[in-house]
Amino acid sequence: MSKKRSAKIIDGKKISAAILQDLKEDIAALRARGVAPGLAVVLVGANPASEVYVKAKRRTCIDLGIESFSHDLPESCTEKRLLKLIEKLNEDPRVHGILVQMPLPEHISEKKVLEAISPDKDVDGFHPVNVGRLLNGEECFVSCTPAGCQALLLRSGYDPAGKHVVIVGRSNIVGKPLAALLMQKANGANATVTVCHSHTRNISKITREADILIAAMGRPEFVKPNMVREGAIVLDVGVNRIPDATKKSGTRLVGDVAFAGVSRKARAITPVPGGVGPMTIAMLMTNTVKAARRAADRKRGRA
Ligand code: NAP
Repeated sequence: MSKKRSAKIIDGKKISAAILQDLKEDIAALRARGVAPGLAVVLVGANPASEVYVKAKRRTCIDLGIESFSHDLPESCTEKRLLKLIEKLNEDPRVHGILVQMPLPEHISEKKVLEAISPDKDVDGFHPVNVGRLLNGEECFVSCTPAGCQALLLRSGYDPAGKHVVIVGRSNIVGKPLAALLMQKANGANATVTVCHSHTRNISKITREADILIAAMGRPEFVKPNMVREGAIVLDVGVNRIPDATKKSGTRLVGDVAFAGVSRKARAITPVPGGVGPMTIAMLMTNTVKAARRAADRKRGRA
């Protein structure tokens, strides 16, 4: 009987640790120029998941030697007060990157808040100026999860150039910017990209055509082995909590891909957790260092 193949695991923890290690050298070089990279992280309210993400971001800043500016505002904070804070952070020369943790309470417009952040400090890459520049193939801040997917592919030796990449999901924070990023005429991109969504007909036929399949839908274990081509590279962006009576917490995390079955068919696959997730923080730190370097270069240009 033939032995069942198992996919290579693309280890996001290991790759993100290597990226953060490389960043330490860039941070030391900036500090030697008298520039301490700084990230302001703004949290509104007490969403437990947001608190966990914010804590991890602040801790990573400290580990790397990035100045972390914390702004925790109550749930009752008005939109006006938040916009005023962003205005102050935009003008603060110690702050190179501003991150406002989403989601915001319902009475605050996320669009208004994201648009208030200076595009030069928009390390999350959500400002329409950065989104437009990405589409145009111009220098910009790329949002962290798409940038993390690209870095995972490149650091694992799977250059998307010339490959058919199928992305399932078209959100503004993952699917759309990822498609824009991988279709660019640029090193690390040059892919032929297809984007699927909830109105796509015969989705399995399309996903089976993918050399690189990226699931970003938020549907637990939606992608089954019959949707994947033999030898495909599979990135799983999904993070879903499902009931599991065998766990002390009563739940466990799964991705959008049915990992056990698909990993017997794919050539390489990201696990959940430990795949795309850790890359998002690594890319946030990368963008913050880039913002600090750009600010220092602008200042030198003016001197
Ligand atoms: P989202 O805004 O809810 O978008 C989901 C997308 O999937 C939509 O475009 C939707 O199509 C599509 N979709 C949903 N059901 C579908 C189906 N049955 N068939 C085909 N397409 C379907 O989600 P998101 O914010 O992009 O996040 C997606 C997942 O990634 C979530 O699990 C989220 O937690 C995770 N995530 C992880 C990270 C990380 O760092 N690892 C970062 C961000 C997000 P329509 O547009 O037609 O509705």
